[in-house]
Amino acid sequence: MKTEIFDIDGENIDYSLLEKAAEILKRGGLVVFPTETVYGLGAAAACSEAVKNIFKAKGRPSDNPLIVHISDLDMIKELISDEKTLENQDIKKLAQNFWPGPLTIIFRKNNSLCDEVTAGLDTVGIRMPENIVARELIRLTGKGVAAPSANTSGRPSPTEPRHVIEDMYGKVDAIICSGNCAVGVESTVLDMTCDPPVILRPGGVTRESIKELLGKDILMAGVIKNDEGQDFVPKAPGMKYRHYAPRGKVIVFSGEDEKIAEKINKYFSEALNEGKIPRIVASRQTARYYDEKYVTVFGDKECPETFAAGIFSALRECDRYNADIIFAEAVSQEGIGEAVMNRLLKAAGNNIIYV
Ligand code: AMP
Ligand code: MG
Repeated sequence: MKTEIFDIDGENIDYSLLEKAAEILKRGGLVVFPTETVYGLGAAAACSEAVKNIFKAKGRPSDNPLIVHISDLDMIKELISDEKTLENQDIKKLAQNFWPGPLTIIFRKNNSLCDEVTAGLDTVGIRMPENIVARELIRLTGKGVAAPSANTSGRPSPTEPRHVIEDMYGKVDAIICSGNCAVGVESTVLDMTCDPPVILRPGGVTRESIKELLGKDILMAGVIKNDEGQDFVPKAPGMKYRHYAPRGKVIVFSGEDEKIAEKINKYFSEALNEGKIPRIVASRQTARYYDEKYVTVFGDKECPETFAAGIFSALRECDRYNADIIFAEAVSQEGIGEAVMNRLLKAAGNNIIYV
């Protein structure tokens, strides 16, 4: 398939290009577009053939539902089962405070919405992205746009144009390139069809901030219950797969900085002796403990958001070095760290060593 590349600057949008992209979506084509979380692979949510093509382009299992992206609240009405849900105080607060932004809310779905989008579930995940190119694209399309992350299923999500080109060139009608994604991890998926609400996937909006806003406990699906990282029981279908993974095996190390470094350096030497290509994923502060030729820095402890912004790009960098074994430092689980650790552990298939 021929893939058109549209370079669009969010601060000075070229509307002739964005109109072209919207036309492709309206015709039932696939368009990759930037969002503040990760790049999304979009199709008109109302067009089941187009939505099926998303699953094909990604190689995504058909039981994994897609999030529908909207540009204004009016678009929700034809997606959810009952408009009155929007009068619910908690939903109102969430939409007012976190939309546009990296929060996906799960609603009961409208029966007119095609089953491909929701993978046969009776609920639908909806989000209003903050990225202006994304929102303008959706506005010009005039209807909800179903979009999962624009990576090949299982690979780290794309947060830079080159990641999207690697995975999607030749598989979609168009790719909108528009710089790096600011947040860098996917949206928080919050199930509001139950009480108390449950986070199905931690993401760009922290559990603490939702809890503070709603003034109630927020449960976390699939919490890691013990030190071995066992009992991981995901409720969002997408969370059950090994995911976000580079080609090499990933091992996460958790504990005090010096102890982690000691352990990683031991594993690292062993890997070199065995003729493997190792790679170390470390913070800016701890990178100095390791042989710099083998280190990818993925964030700064002074600013935890940088770990979110850097995690997927770091994992993809390991692939560029052809690493077959990757030793990654754990980050603090606080705030956005909950989402970062979730992605890191998925990439590692829950392989974590406590030192
Ligand atoms: P992605 O689009 O790649 O960011 O993945 C979307 C995530 O949201 C996956 O983990 C899905 O399983 C989850 N998700 C989307 N819609 C629903 C839904 N209706 N119920 C539960 N999880 C959902
Ligand atoms: Mg994804």
